[in-house]
Amino acid sequence: MVEVVPIPCFEDNYAYLLVDRAAGETAVVDAPEAEPILAALAERSLRLTALLCTHHHWDHVGGNEALAAAFPGLDVVGLESDAARIPGITRTLDDGADVEVVGLRATCLHTPGHTVGAVCFHVAAKGWLFTGDTLFGGGCGRLFEGSAEQMQASLARLAALSGDTKVWFAHEYTAANLRFAARVEPDNPALRGRYERVRRQRTAGVVTCPSTLAEERATNPFLRWHEPTVIDAARAHGATGDTPTEVFAAIRRWKDTA
Ligand code: ZN
Ligand code: FE
Repeated sequence: MVEVVPIPCFEDNYAYLLVDRAAGETAVVDAPEAEPILAALAERSLRLTALLCTHHHWDHVGGNEALAAAFPGLDVVGLESDAARIPGITRTLDDGADVEVVGLRATCLHTPGHTVGAVCFHVAAKGWLFTGDTLFGGGCGRLFEGSAEQMQASLARLAALSGDTKVWFAHEYTAANLRFAARVEPDNPALRGRYERVRRQRTAGVVTCPSTLAEERATNPFLRWHEPTVIDAARAHGATGDTPTEVFAAIRRWKDTA
């Protein structure tokens, strides 16, 4: 049995351990910094065997080299076309390729937009999706390198997975994201209910991951380009048409300046 354990790093990052207690082994998705990850491994007497990297930003790979030094032979996995930017990478994947970690098959989904080399890892057998800075609880990553068209297509690809898929996102931005979402859709009851839940979780110091794709489709404005209310909000913020890309781009620009 493998379980996911979120490890808070820095202010609001998460590293995710995929823990196989019986084997005493674990994989990790993203290594923002080594110390909290090494402490969590030591506390549980776990050996780290694989590190999956969602993208090259420092707050996701800052701990790569220290973890590789602590666990000789560590598999450091990332997208082939972004290999030059991922410290310590030992194994590269193309879009759609699988890697086996702690006895589970993880599929690499290339989701350009936040960066051109951003990927998500899908563990289909468990219904887990590790989204890095592509899809957040109630939001999505900024467009640092890719186009709105690329990001919208990437998010549409994720949104098409099964609704019960658990979404493990790389930052705890959910409460702030949902406050913005409520400006886009003030009359969405699912959104209001989710915000109340998230607010209680944060007050109690509880993580808001995982969400589900069904919940994101119902409340995340960056997956709701087809909704009349979202289209109207996009038009009020500069969209000249109602295509998914135009709607997405206008809502993203609005949030960037909100
Ligand atoms: Zn990032
Ligand atoms: Fe980040």
